[in-house]
Amino acid sequence: MFDKVLIANRGEIAVRVHRACRDLGIHTVAVHSTADAEAMHTRLADESVCIGPAPASDSYLNIPAIIAAAEITNADAIHPGYGFLSENANFASIVEEHGFTFIGPTPAHISLMGDKVRAKETVRDLGLPVVPGSNGPVADEAEALNVAAEIGYPILVKAVAGGGGRGMKRVDEASGLLEAMAGARAEAQASFGDGTIYLEKCIENPRHIEIQVLADQFGAVVHLGERDCSLQRRHQKILEEAPSSALNETERQAIAARVVEAVRALGYRGVGTLEFLYKGGAFYFIEMNTRIQVEHPVTEMITGIDLVREQIRVAAGAPLGYQQSDIRFNGHAIECRINAENPDTFQPSPGLISSYHTPGGLGVRVDSAVYQDYRVPPYYDSLIGKVIVHGSTRNECLMRLRRALEEYVIAGVETTIPLHLKLLSVPDFANGLYDIHWLERFIGET
Ligand code: ADP
Repeated sequence: MFDKVLIANRGEIAVRVHRACRDLGIHTVAVHSTADAEAMHTRLADESVCIGPAPASDSYLNIPAIIAAAEITNADAIHPGYGFLSENANFASIVEEHGFTFIGPTPAHISLMGDKVRAKETVRDLGLPVVPGSNGPVADEAEALNVAAEIGYPILVKAVAGGGGRGMKRVDEASGLLEAMAGARAEAQASFGDGTIYLEKCIENPRHIEIQVLADQFGAVVHLGERDCSLQRRHQKILEEAPSSALNETERQAIAARVVEAVRALGYRGVGTLEFLYKGGAFYFIEMNTRIQVEHPVTEMITGIDLVREQIRVAAGAPLGYQQSDIRFNGHAIECRINAENPDTFQPSPGLISSYHTPGGLGVRVDSAVYQDYRVPPYYDSLIGKVIVHGSTRNECLMRLRRALEEYVIAGVETTIPLHLKLLSVPDFANGLYDIHWLERFIGET
């Protein structure tokens, strides 16, 4: 096992990784920007190193500074968290070339899945259902018009290097295609430095259902069930739950078994998530995330398995040590993302947290990196914490969630807590009847 892990991230996920390390008796090194000198991850870690000024491009994305921090602190391994460098194959290679273990899959698997076109081809060849679309990038307008006519409108123009919903445009008829392609290209070029695009059939009003997998270096693969992440705004997840109220047990078992087979054939190691759209009993693969996800706690709550701990263990070369039949699914869990944002306009609301009190009690977990008198900096993502609740049934979970959100006091900055509370009183949500556009309709954005 490692003696010391450097955590190349900030915010709640850096704290989450620190906790898993400490539970394993591993020392931690935090890296931080000048804006994060007083951040919780910086304060909790055994050692901390300032790696640059506030902008992420100069600090949390600064590969030489992170490697130097690992060298001077004599760390054994680097955990990338999510976002920032977590899906950067080049970073994973550099980490390994410098003699550190990258806590994640191989650089080859990261780059394979980071290219959405290659990812789709790969999983389709491994027997998983994918969204119909152009089989590969589309080179020019003429080809795009042909492909779109073949798969049928509406279609989505998507960026090969896409992420976070950027570089994605819906087109309802041929006359809008060329403009959407130009827009998606420009957005993808600006966001990812790669304007390559492809086309996909737009599945109308599906659910977003993803399967969590965990694999060791010896070919053992298990799934930890699904998460339903259909509550989204502008393709960004707001609330996630497990299990999905859309699936029956037969469907759940069938898709999970196919995913496990595909992941085994891929020779994948570590944690991973295969994301699907689900409509009318059919699944359509959209992408695989080769890292820990924001919403991983809902899976932890229903399985009792610490995913970050498992990620560290398998990276250190330990075998999983259990099989699919050992995994028990228990009750229901829901996670609410708490963002420092206006709950109506979603405008970021950084600033000083003047008063802070977290909810507690049975079945309530708060993963956060803020505290009283902490100043939420304006430079980073607005996620400041997550409330995760567990109950023996979905109804119990919903009651407990309302109670927990009502207890949560965060003063001084605006947060999305009022939005979550509002959702809880809507019958469609209470009955689990929602799709990926439901929230946008509810808040009047479509
Ligand atoms: P990103 O990597 O940018 O997050 P994804 O491919 O994971 O992009 O898609 C993000 C979200 O966009 C999905 O959860 C879903 O809401 C929507 N989406 C993606 N592909 C399709 C599709 N073919 N049809 C309908 N909605 C889609």
